[in-house]
Amino acid sequence: MKTKKGIPVSPGVAISRAVVIDAEDQPIPRRVLPAEAVAKQLARLDEAVAKSCADIVRISEQATARVGADLGKIFGYHLAMLQDEQLISQFKQTIQAESVTAEYAVYTVMRRMGRMLLQQSNRYFRERVNDVWDLERRILGHLIGRTHEELAHLKTEAVVIAHDLTPSQTAALDTNKIKALATDAGGSTSHTAILAHALGIPAIVGLENASTDVETGNTVIIDGNKGLVIINPDAATLLQYRQERRRMAELETRLGKVAHLPAQTKDGTDIEILANIEFPNETRFAIEKGATGIGLYRTEFLYLASEDGKPSEELQYEAYKETIQGLDGRSLTIRTVDLGADKIGRNGANGEHVERNPFLGCRSIRFCLQHLELFKTQLHAILRASTEGPVRIMFPLISNIMELRQAKMILNDVREDLHENGVEYREKIPVGMMIEVPSAALQAATFAHEVDFFSIGTNDLIQYTVAVDRGNERIASLYSAAHPAVIQLVRDVTRVASRANTDISICGEMAGHPEFVMLLLGLGLRNLSMTPHAIPEVKRVIRSVSIDQCKRVARKAGGFDSDREVLNYLKDEVCKILPDALDGRAREY
Ligand code: PEP
Ligand code: MG
Repeated sequence: MKTKKGIPVSPGVAISRAVVIDAEDQPIPRRVLPAEAVAKQLARLDEAVAKSCADIVRISEQATARVGADLGKIFGYHLAMLQDEQLISQFKQTIQAESVTAEYAVYTVMRRMGRMLLQQSNRYFRERVNDVWDLERRILGHLIGRTHEELAHLKTEAVVIAHDLTPSQTAALDTNKIKALATDAGGSTSHTAILAHALGIPAIVGLENASTDVETGNTVIIDGNKGLVIINPDAATLLQYRQERRRMAELETRLGKVAHLPAQTKDGTDIEILANIEFPNETRFAIEKGATGIGLYRTEFLYLASEDGKPSEELQYEAYKETIQGLDGRSLTIRTVDLGADKIGRNGANGEHVERNPFLGCRSIRFCLQHLELFKTQLHAILRASTEGPVRIMFPLISNIMELRQAKMILNDVREDLHENGVEYREKIPVGMMIEVPSAALQAATFAHEVDFFSIGTNDLIQYTVAVDRGNERIASLYSAAHPAVIQLVRDVTRVASRANTDISICGEMAGHPEFVMLLLGLGLRNLSMTPHAIPEVKRVIRSVSIDQCKRVARKAGGFDSDREVLNYLKDEVCKILPDALDGRAREY
């Protein structure tokens, strides 16, 4: 038995057989074959391409059924590439001209294509490189028996252990079969983590070398509460975890009963509980879990899922309309597209970046302001859909007042445009911004005059405040929502908003963590937006505390010097009120 510790990002316990996905980018050695072997290699290639096409069609159908047509479309692009005769003939020519294996031909052609894309000045082409790697791995899986094939043909339950997962891999996981996932790479708010939460399976990231320690077929326990991967557990550990799973199932049943009770503190203060979603069809689940609206709709997933990275106005309109209609009068905050390094991933074969510092680069609102056509298309779609129900528009990553003014000006242009063309839209749409950059937090008083609402995005606010990449497992221990500087910023922004009468909510992952609930209420927040799975537990905490109690906790938490002390204290406090609130994580760090 061997235990590995990583970063827990989605709670729960799974015990199952492991399927290991190899680390990416293993070079394929060049093996020269006798001339008579060429025909066999061509036949192997045809078979692998045909199987890959069949995989893609199947996964696309599964993804469409699970998370909606938007995601299913990612795979349309992969299929088109594989059906491109030019690409296939390049594979064949390499096999014939160099007398090499089919896998080597696929590897060299795809690498060449990837490198070419990376050199393009057009961002859209550069971003397609992840699709090239995805496809390369799929074909190689059929040629040299990598685990993609196994993943696609799973007959029994399994947990996935991978070096890293691309967005399409994560979202395409069949959660009927795949019970948990664990990756070497990633941090607590990385893209994989957010998607795993949305899928509702236990997940651990930042394990560094689990994919080399675990072998396919090993029995593995994934403890998403404590961040543990236990490889080949002994009988006593298995028994302990089976009991733990039963205990959690009971907890889940109890939580189900809380979902629709009012989110009201013991002294009668109402707290608004909203959900963060990535896809329109998560809306129903969010409402089932007790959300009274959507506080953050991450629209970039529409872009990631579209074939050319530019979903049409019509496609967006339909997605927004579907979400609004699904909410049946509840409010929806649509965040304009926030494409960045955390969503797109590393763009190179060897992890090289197109920008030297993508997190400090052209992401989010900066990207939109440099691509006005794309931005306006989205705003058109949102405004048109706004006739269907209450909508708010939120701009992400604002770091400078001029950015906000420019974004609002463009929104006004779009309004005028619609007006001139006689297209209907809701006149009074609240316009807000994320507070997720320290400069915006520090200048909140200035921003408050120019927006209707703030939403604090702690996922980014933490990384920019403490200078720790949110997706980097090597420095993940430095990334903490409990850092005194982060708490100070959240407190100050909340105060400024309250003085200025500006609506304020928080939508970073910390809002869904029970240990932070008292702190956030004590700092004055009354509106929390979180991943839908977290809602019942957060409600349970809210219903067990009074605002005075929360204020005391916030005061005391504000007096500590280190994130360790703050976190210890907050965990102890929530466990005093609800001993099972952290599923036994209270003293684990
Ligand atoms: C955040 O930064 O806190 C946030 C909610 O947005 P995202 O995680 O999409 O960057
Ligand atoms: Mg953010």
